[in-house]
Amino acid sequence: MNATATVASGASDLVDQIDAILPQTQCRQCGFDGCRPYAEALAAGTVPLNQCPPGGAAGIVELAALLKLPILPLSAEHGIEQPRELAVIDEECCIGCTLCIQACPVDAIFGAAKQMHTVINAECTGCALCVAPCPVDCIDMVVLQPVALSRLVEPERSHARGRYQFHQFRLDREQRERHERLAQKAVTKLAAAQQAPGSDEALRAEKIRAAMARASAKRGEVSPADEPAPDQPAADPIQDDAEVLKQARIAAAIARATALRKR
Ligand code: SF4
Ligand code: SF4
Ligand code: SF4
Repeated sequence: MNATATVASGASDLVDQIDAILPQTQCRQCGFDGCRPYAEALAAGTVPLNQCPPGGAAGIVELAALLKLPILPLSAEHGIEQPRELAVIDEECCIGCTLCIQACPVDAIFGAAKQMHTVINAECTGCALCVAPCPVDCIDMVVLQPVALSRLVEPERSHARGRYQFHQFRLDREQRERHERLAQKAVTKLAAAQQAPGSDEALRAEKIRAAMARASAKRGEVSPADEPAPDQPAADPIQDDAEVLKQARIAAAIARATALRKR
């Protein structure tokens, strides 16, 4: 029998079942960006089932039973099974850079810019992802007392999964909002520049417009700067581009002529 499983249908159910077995530490030692991506790869049959150190031997046995695959020893290349740990911040040394907050996949660190940070013990999965980014090495991983298996048990696993999902949702939302804010700012600048064609501001605006159009084209979207007003017909993109170039050239010529006159 192969050491991987091939599953063509019911993949989503299977991913859920595998994900329910995985520890939800979200540590990435398996080589994937969290437990869910590893579960998806296992369901697709593209990876062996022995790459999760926090899941340890017990996790491998459960995965093997579900996937009807042979039990394998934990892959040493991916780490060793060890007791569950907890991050502890030396608050006296913390400079409040927030890098650990950004690294934590379950939002288990509390603090604000230039202020002392602290770990919310009950939410820490022991993934250690906050340790490396700390520029002053003030985060230590300590063995949780009383000593416990590294694999979270229910209901801790479900709780950690929920926090990870919310973390991902929050990042997506923040990225979308940032993009919308930047797009709105650019549209406002364009509108202001159109009031004074030929000015430096107009030249800058044309550059912004061209950059937005290029970025939108890459994403296969319509640039917000090129969206027609609700009561206007949609512009011909080729003519529109030609017009933008023409206006930019005219504005540049006026700017050059103005500069020459001032000499
Ligand atoms: S807990 Fe296991 S499956 Fe989850 S990210 Fe860590 S190594 Fe991967
Ligand atoms: S505090 Fe650190 S060790 Fe704990 S979950 Fe967050 S990143 Fe992982
Ligand atoms: S990364 Fe280190 S210095 Fe920066 S906020 Fe976190 S604990 Fe403090």
